[in-house]
Amino acid sequence: MRLVSIIVPCYNEEKALPLFYPAIRDVAEECRARDCEFEFIFVDDGSSDNTLGVIKELLAGDDRVKYVSFSRNFGKEAAMFAGLEAARGSMVAIMDADLQDPPSLIPEMIRILDEEPYDCVGSRRVTRKGEPKIRSLFARMFYKIMRKMSKTEIVDGARDFRLMKRPMVDAILNMREYNRFSKGIFSWVGFRTKWLEYENIERAAGETKWSFRKLLFYSIDGMVAFSTTPLAVSSVLGLVFCLISFIALIIVFVRQLIWHNSVGGWASAMCIIFFLSGIQLFCIGILGQYLSKTYMEVKKRPIYVVGESNVGEQAGNISGEHASAERGGKNV
Ligand code: UDP
Ligand code: MG
Repeated sequence: MRLVSIIVPCYNEEKALPLFYPAIRDVAEECRARDCEFEFIFVDDGSSDNTLGVIKELLAGDDRVKYVSFSRNFGKEAAMFAGLEAARGSMVAIMDADLQDPPSLIPEMIRILDEEPYDCVGSRRVTRKGEPKIRSLFARMFYKIMRKMSKTEIVDGARDFRLMKRPMVDAILNMREYNRFSKGIFSWVGFRTKWLEYENIERAAGETKWSFRKLLFYSIDGMVAFSTTPLAVSSVLGLVFCLISFIALIIVFVRQLIWHNSVGGWASAMCIIFFLSGIQLFCIGILGQYLSKTYMEVKKRPIYVVGESNVGEQAGNISGEHASAERGGKNV
């Protein structure tokens, strides 16, 4: 039997979990035919509702359930990382708790990894129906800009829902950066990825945790983490303006020599001062973004803090190629 780990980041999902669990349990049943055993790792990302209580209820009826509960809300990126650290399977999947990532795709993903030469099966939604128009517009813009700016390919519409083989998981675990942008990290580590496409599905219960503001900051994080182009832009802008000011200087000098009327042009001077100080502040802002990220990285703070967890408690019972390889390659 092989072990497949399913990681589910949960933030205030008390309504969605009772719908999600039966769906994934049925999938686990179906996959027995493919020689797969499952473990479900629920990461409670500091929920303020009864999410942890619901997870514990699930645990009472199913010892495949593991949980890691954070001491506060650390964000989905941290939750996914904690899940990856806890996962012991030879294949690992990440999926949302709200059924927007259809569990029914899992058997197909396992089949692809078994039979085709891929290390990872990702999912990508080809439509954004049911999403606010303005959000879709900005999302599209973000992907377009990212494609231009970053050498790391960020696939439009790619979700975090994916099934990976162990080597890819280990590669991701080796990237211990504090400012995490998984869409970039998944792509940066490489490996052969097959994309399954599907139409957007609306959330089964509860509501989205991503406000427009949160998404905006997340996209800035993504740009800063996977591209240094903005820094280059500010130097190029600086150069261009140096050139312009040099030309302007010559014009002013010549004008004074010929017409002796320097007092005129106050308005244009003010415009130039405002414009240039705007550009300067903008460029300092870009520098500040990188500096603040560097500052957070050098502090080497933990990516998350665990409040409570049952991971490791049943370590003796878990198999999985990864875990068993460490114990001498014996598969249970
Ligand atoms: N999530 C999380 N921490 C957060 C925000 C979200 O663990 O701070 C989880 C959430 O419980 C869900 C997944 O991440 O399982 C996706 O969140 P959501 O459905 O709100 O995002 P959307 O699908 O709208 O992009
Ligand atoms: Mg969702």
